[in-house]
Amino acid sequence: MDYPGNLFVVAAPSGAGKSSLVKALLELDSHVHPSISHTTRPPRGQEKHGREYFFVSEPEFDAMVQGNAFVEWAMVHGNRYGTSKKAIEERIAQGSDVILEIDFQGALQIKKAFANAILVFILPPSWEELRSRLERRGEDSADVIEVRLKNAAIEMAQVGKFDFVIINELFERALFDLKAVVHAQRLKYAAQRRARADTFQSLNIT
Ligand code: 5GP
Repeated sequence: MDYPGNLFVVAAPSGAGKSSLVKALLELDSHVHPSISHTTRPPRGQEKHGREYFFVSEPEFDAMVQGNAFVEWAMVHGNRYGTSKKAIEERIAQGSDVILEIDFQGALQIKKAFANAILVFILPPSWEELRSRLERRGEDSADVIEVRLKNAAIEMAQVGKFDFVIINELFERALFDLKAVVHAQRLKYAAQRRARADTFQSLNIT
């Protein structure tokens, strides 16, 4: 199915800077909307139901799985996370762009359901930098950091299945790259044909 809106899917190992990049993009571009996932993990800090996530119980999550509500769901670091199919479809059918910030397993599932989804992988510039970002973040114990680094190796091995790769060495440069990916989709023929129908008409082209 060809929808007028774009579906961007951003994945990265934890510590690569995915959340900050997506957050900055959303602040700069009001045409891109985040998809709010459902999760069984409890809220952290200031997180609000319906803003960062829909926080649901295990039975509620089970019921959504049974009811085929998720286009994909995955177990990530011991909690379940799922993306609602209906929420995405409604938005991109209206012509809005949607961005998903999910793990790599979910990203690959999305591509199966939405063939035109644009998959973006964020890489850290080096192992040393990834480790030092996880340490500086101060959220995880040394053991958890080792687990995250092991998972990062598994996740990064999947990078070849993604459409675009952004290396987050300098934040501003990586943000520029992400904006470029978004912008390039809007310059595709079908998108321009829709957005600039008047120009096409005045030029007598189809
Ligand atoms: P956190 O609990 O730190 O917010 O997220 C943990 C991980 O789950 C991150 O890698 C995040 O991108 C991923 N995640 C969040 N929502 C979804 C989702 O709907 N599906 C999948 N597969 N992963 C998700």
